[in-house]
Amino acid sequence: MDSPDSKHFIRQIVERDIANGLDPREIHTRFPPEPNGCLHIGHAKAFCLDFGIALENGGKCNLRFDDTNPDKEETRFVESIKEDVRWLGFDWGGREYYASDYFEQLYGFAEELIKSGKAYVCTLSPEEFKEYRGVPGQPGKPSPWRDRPAEESLDLFRRMRAGEFEEGEYVLRAKIDMSSPNLHMRDPAIYRIKKIAHHRFGNEWCIYPMYDFAHCLSDAIEGITHSLCTLEFEVHRPLYDWFIDNTSIIKRLKIHPRQYEFARLNLSYTMMSKRKLQQIVAEKIVDGWDDPRMPTLSGMRRRGYTPKAIKDFCEEIGVTKFNSLTDFALLEHCLRSDLNKVALRRMAVFDPLEVEIENYDEGKTELLDAVNNPEDESAGTRKIPFSKHIYIERSDFMENPPKKYFRLSPNSEVRLRYAYFLTCKEVVKDSSGKVVKLLCNIDPASRGGNSPDGRKVKGTIHWVEKSSALKSTAYLYDKLFTREDMSSLPEGADFKDFLNPNSLEIKEFFAEPSLKEAKPGTPLQFERIGYFTVDSKVGDGLVFNRTATLKDSYSPNKA
Ligand code: ATP
Ligand code: MG
Repeated sequence: MDSPDSKHFIRQIVERDIANGLDPREIHTRFPPEPNGCLHIGHAKAFCLDFGIALENGGKCNLRFDDTNPDKEETRFVESIKEDVRWLGFDWGGREYYASDYFEQLYGFAEELIKSGKAYVCTLSPEEFKEYRGVPGQPGKPSPWRDRPAEESLDLFRRMRAGEFEEGEYVLRAKIDMSSPNLHMRDPAIYRIKKIAHHRFGNEWCIYPMYDFAHCLSDAIEGITHSLCTLEFEVHRPLYDWFIDNTSIIKRLKIHPRQYEFARLNLSYTMMSKRKLQQIVAEKIVDGWDDPRMPTLSGMRRRGYTPKAIKDFCEEIGVTKFNSLTDFALLEHCLRSDLNKVALRRMAVFDPLEVEIENYDEGKTELLDAVNNPEDESAGTRKIPFSKHIYIERSDFMENPPKKYFRLSPNSEVRLRYAYFLTCKEVVKDSSGKVVKLLCNIDPASRGGNSPDGRKVKGTIHWVEKSSALKSTAYLYDKLFTREDMSSLPEGADFKDFLNPNSLEIKEFFAEPSLKEAKPGTPLQFERIGYFTVDSKVGDGLVFNRTATLKDSYSPNKA
């Protein structure tokens, strides 16, 4: 949203800093995704905050790829992340950085720590490392290598870099406090050997810095003032400060970067872990990272979500320090509020029942005016064909209607949207008794759907002309998981136990001919049916993704 009216705690911190003399234009944040997957709605919360705080104050926000772990990092994810951030309308102003840009500098800081006796090369195996570190409440045990002379550590560290050792043989560790109540302060690893090619530097490096070391120093190198991250990093904060305070970067800093933590977004019926999302992609449970059922921004885009809906949602949920579960209905509420304003109205029939208009000439077609969006006059009108043969929705007819049924029934009158008043004269059935056709009359004086004499009809139904109808396919999506809270599963359960077997229904339907021109990403409302958009992967205009139903379908009690 353009004007922030909620003063969440991060905004209050920034306000306080400004009151204490910080020039708002100096506010500098960063969004630090790891390019090991596509961004999801949780990341959107994070980067709306990072970019938002900078924008609100006339400061800057960098896009920094945290690419210190070459295992799963790929250039295609870099591209997809940039596309997603841009899609939400944010601009990093050319400040596209990579933690790997700083590998040489970070290496230098590590040597500094060794020389000043604040880091050492350790020879413990990973299992011993863990054992020595100990458990909360009891001090850990110092590594036998803790007092290795600096020259020896320096020599080993250089040989680690030169590739002389195998993975796991040595690690470089900070020398902090083996009895700290905070396990992260018990001589954490700074560098480990990994003989894996990096997405940008290939095999140039075979040692890689740990996140805790690289992240804070990258912030310091870039002059970040407010480093916003999720709550799980709260316990890493002393380490964040320690690395900055114990390397020479501190002398170059005008403003000490500060880390602030906020609660991550958990959304009902939605799984947000990148590792698990990666798994359902790899196992082809979904059709890629951009499957419209995925909580990824690329999936949501393909499904027809609008950037505004996502940004409004991120503003609406606010920023707190408490983990909670946000109701998916809130996201859909933001989505529908926007779609209702911008979606082009179109007519489509999903479960067709043929109507023959007895008092209309065979072979005659007329073009009627239909309003594109009653919420937005500037969207204009279009022409829709009408003839003797049309389809209506089967559910809009009842042979023996109850009281207060205002749609079509024998001898009752309804309005065909934008067309005519219609009366049902006869019901045609097949041998099994199924209604196959209705014979009806129109009132020619009601052209456009307007009452000729002030008489009222209670129901208005949608329709599609038969010969020009586009035979189309709709992908009707439902939630991917059946469990409300996917962020904490019962013991022993696997997330795949909660996959919704009915998350996708494919349906053939008839669409009005103007839909042939519809473009992927254009929000559409099929009147009385739901919000849709053209699928971007098919692109011939005849496959539509359902973005959302017209009404809430996610609230727990209705699920
Ligand atoms: P995941 O836990 O899904 O694998 P991650 O935290 O490892 O995600 P990163 O690419 O490192 O993914 O995240 C980039 C930024 O986005 C980080 O600052 C992280 O804290 C933030 N972030 C990730 N998930 C969420 C979430 N669900 N809600 C809010 N912020 C998030
Ligand atoms: Mg991370």
